Order: sequence, then C-alpha cells, then structure tokens
Amino acid sequence: MRNLNCKNCGSIMIYDVSSMMAHCRFCGTSYVLDHKDTDYFKTFYRQMIDSSSGDEAKKKRDESLWDNADSITFTTNEGQCIELKYLHSYSDKCADVYVTRRNIAFHFREGMNGKAEHMRKMVSSLDYPSADTRTLSDFFPRVTGAFMLDDGTSLVVINKREEEYPLRLFGKLGGRHIAWIISRLENLCCVLEYNGLVHPEIDVDSVYINPNNHTACLYCNWWSVDQKNMHGLSSSANLTGLRNTAKTLLETEDVTPDTPQALLDFINSSPKIDAYEDFAYWDEMLIKAFGERKFIKMDKEDSDIYGKQDD
Ligand SMILES: [Zn+2]
Repeated sequence: MRNLNCKNCGSIMIYDVSSMMAHCRFCGTSYVLDHKDTDYFKTFYRQMIDSSSGDEAKKKRDESLWDNADSITFTTNEGQCIELKYLHSYSDKCADVYVTRRNIAFHFREGMNGKAEHMRKMVSSLDYPSADTRTLSDFFPRVTGAFMLDDGTSLVVINKREEEYPLRLFGKLGGRHIAWIISRLENLCCVLEYNGLVHPEIDVDSVYINPNNHTACLYCNWWSVDQKNMHGLSSSANLTGLRNTAKTLLETEDVTPDTPQALLDFINSSPKIDAYEDFAYWDEMLIKAFGERKFIKMDKEDSDIYGKQDD
C-alpha cells in the first residue's frame, strides 16, 4: 500500500479510517487528503473487506494485496541484511512500524533503545489465567527477533498470523462487526487487568483483527504499557481505549438496525470499576442491542472465564 510522507518531517503518515485526513504521529502535522488519495484508500479498505469474505476467490485477492508491497532493508551491527516486504507502514513517536505477512517490525529511532527494552520487558511479563494460557497468548505479541543495527538503532520483530491486519486498514465498519470486536477487546482487557497492566494506546493501530474467525489481538505500542498506578496510569484507560476504538470505527452515530441504541450507549458509557465488570456490562448491552448472540462466533472461553460470574 502507498505510503504518505509528512510534508513537515518526512515520517510516514497514517490516514484516518474515513480516508479523508492524514496525520503524522511523530510531529503532529495533519492535512486533508486530495480526492485521488481518498479514492485510493477507500479502494484499499474495500479490498481488505473483500479479501476477508472467505469465498474461493479469497486467496487470489489476498495475494493481490501484496502485489504492490514495498520493501526495506536493514543491516545489523554484525553485517547481516534483513529485508522486509511490508503491506503497511507508519511512523510512531518512538519507532517506525512495518506490517509484513507474518510479522510486525518496529524500527526504534535514535535514542529510543530504552523503549525497545521496555516493550520487550512488558511483553515477556504477561501471564495468563491457567485455564486458558494457550489460547489467550495467541492474542498478545511474542518477540521473535531483536537486532542492533549498524547505526546504533534497534529493530524488534513480533509474530502475527497471515490473516491478521491492523483495524485501521478496514475503514469504517457496521455495528455488528464492531460488536464482535468489542467482545474480543473486553476479553483482552481482562488479561491486562489480570496482569495489573495498563495499555494507554488501545486504538486502530495497536489492535489487529482476523475478520475470518473474528479474533482480535493487541499487538502494538507496548512501549507505552506499564503497571497500573505507575505514572498515574489507571486501568480504566484500557476500557476507555476500547470505547474510543469502537467509536473511531462507527459508520454512523445514528440509531439503525445495525447500530442500535444499546451499542451507542455502551460506547458512550463510562468504564466500569474493572475489566471483569465491564465485560459483564458489555454482555448485557450486547443482548439488548442485538438479542441472543448467535450471530457472532464467540468461543466459550470468554464467558467461561470472565463472564457473568463476576457480577
Ligand atoms: Zn511529521
């Protein structure tokens, strides 16, 4: 996918989910996209949605997503070359992020190696409720490579599955899609709560989804994660991030059959006291919004482990 470079600092910009604006996360510059770019990103979003429809032509379309993928090469301090072919890239405050088929690579800027260390420390500290270790760990980052580069900066690589993409790449979504995403994020917030961790940047760049099997993962911005009560971090920030993510994705804030009042009420509500209570509250609102939850695939571990037993 095409990169947009910031006219102010040269970083790779992100564009909003309605594909009208471009933002530089590094220096804060924003501008309105011209029609050509807006059309380009809208077409790209459509292609992403299409490629997740799961029919026979899917594989071909998945493949075509990669036809125009860019590549970049890094050299380690031992002279080894690392070439990345990536579909999507953007600059964040402390790192440039590259989304490849099976990895996400973070190239930390000069002076940011401490952030790389912190990210690795947070990721490796994750612990899971014993009943469900294997499944839940799939939805959090696993560091598979860390390299010092020849210029003194560092590159950290985590795993992702091929069918998983950043939420940003799907554009605006209908209420039913947002509902299963909220369910998954509530689950992930329970894991953060269990670990006493706060992720202050749960958003459309840090959350990745697999639209085929309705899973969501919290892969990025782990350099901002910390124990709660550190630097004034409160665990309600996780639940606020969840709501803001849903709000960003909403196609419409009007009540429609696909966007019922109960869904909007939840998105505009204040977080409950902790993630377990918030998940129970969401379950109530989900039923109010859409009735029984047969329309979404929802693995039983959600309610088994974090469900209504908490209220
Ligand atoms: Zn910039």
